[in-house]
Amino acid sequence: MNKVRVRFAPSPTGALHIGGVRTALYNYLFAKQHGGDLIFRIEDTDSHRFVPGAEDYILESFKWLGITFDEGVSFGGKYGPYRQSERKDIYKKYVQQLLDNDKAYIAFDTPEQLDAKRTETANFQYDASTRLQMTNSLTLSKDEVEKRIAAGEQYVVRFKIEPGEEVTVHDLIRGDVHINSSILDDKVLYKSVDNLPTYHLANIVDDHLMEVSHVIRGEEWLPSAPLHVLLYRAFGWEETMPQFAHLSLLLKPDGNGKLSKRDGDRLGFPVFPLEWHDPKTGEVSSGYRESGYLPEAVINFLALLGWNPGNDQEIMSMDELIKLFNLEKCSKSGAKFDYEKGKHFNHLYLQKKSDAELAVFVQQKLDERNISAAPQKIEMAVAAMKERATFTKDLWDLCSFFFIAPTEFNEKDVQKRWKEDTHRLLSELLPVLASIPNFDDAEATEETVKAWCEAKGYGLGNVMNPFRLTLVGEMKGPQMFQITKILGKTEVIKRLKFALETIH
Ligand code: GLU
Repeated sequence: MNKVRVRFAPSPTGALHIGGVRTALYNYLFAKQHGGDLIFRIEDTDSHRFVPGAEDYILESFKWLGITFDEGVSFGGKYGPYRQSERKDIYKKYVQQLLDNDKAYIAFDTPEQLDAKRTETANFQYDASTRLQMTNSLTLSKDEVEKRIAAGEQYVVRFKIEPGEEVTVHDLIRGDVHINSSILDDKVLYKSVDNLPTYHLANIVDDHLMEVSHVIRGEEWLPSAPLHVLLYRAFGWEETMPQFAHLSLLLKPDGNGKLSKRDGDRLGFPVFPLEWHDPKTGEVSSGYRESGYLPEAVINFLALLGWNPGNDQEIMSMDELIKLFNLEKCSKSGAKFDYEKGKHFNHLYLQKKSDAELAVFVQQKLDERNISAAPQKIEMAVAAMKERATFTKDLWDLCSFFFIAPTEFNEKDVQKRWKEDTHRLLSELLPVLASIPNFDDAEATEETVKAWCEAKGYGLGNVMNPFRLTLVGEMKGPQMFQITKILGKTEVIKRLKFALETIH
């Protein structure tokens, strides 16, 4: 096999959908597995659909996810430029080649004329059966064509598809897909109005010039593939035509239909890698990063949407995925977007992180609130709470009480736990706590407090439950003497005193 060269070629029309991220990931895994190259190409020949900021958004998404490119827009490389709007002259040359070889023709039909034709003929298609009724270089004289162009008339170049040809798309996932060329229309390849090729021509020319070996893309491009095969044929590039692999769709969590942005809004999960601010509508859509996902978990989760290693193994690092991924084993049928599984993965990946790594997420929140805390204390808080966290953002909700003393106490908990003698018991506990040099040894603190309870004949629950309430503000948190250890003696005594003054 020649060197593997694959590409991810988005159109910068908005935020990158999570399905697009999976396509890029599969390209990346395949490239790395074969020691090949992954190219980042921007397909921006449709100027009407261009959205400012989309390209940077896509690049930032991959940076966050750890998907790296070997060449392309912003990465450089010897096949550049990699942005199609910067390759106009290249495409012009290839359009001319098709015209010279009678594989394409110039057409002047205006949108109005085409509309009129569509109303006149049901299921009108611009193809071998109708092209001779239209205004194009096949029906006009050479002089007339030149005159019209010289006079500035706008035109398109159409692909002259010969009818009755068998077209086979060899697909690594789907096997051979056959169609007859008669069903295809004479696709527009180039438009004089913006001097730009259409997606089909630019895509084929670039894949050829960039020596792309495999085209791995979403199933929605499968209908274009026969046309692409015919274009390779028309150019005489069949020998070096890339291998195709069309990935199955991502389906709604219940399996009924294609996953859409609205499903995310409806069911409360992001469909974009990063938060997206739509510059046109001002609408903000949530992203995996901002929702507290770890990139490794997102990668692992996405990798398994439409592929699996053939055994029960589910948790795989990027390196393992590179080793185990198998393009040909990708599923032909759609993959259900099992969002709960994504959450579960995130929880597992979060547990694998060191306390220091996770402390960063709490530190950020402390900084935002101008609260200073010893790094060691933050790490201890994280260690005590991370088991309960699914998302990185949960860490702050779980740990904040270590850094912000309660000013109020949960009413229900007070009603239930604050009994008649509580005030007296906890007031007596104060000097006991004060007598302990410090709370660093959680077991020792526990022993002292328990021994005191026993000696006094106080029920452990009658002391511990309200004690927790005074330190946390409600009945939650880890083991009591973990809390006292992390808070430290001064803070514990301060909180306890405040509660005794406040709760009546
Ligand atoms: N520009 C197309 C897209 O937005 C690329 C399709 C392909 O990979 O050929 O997905």
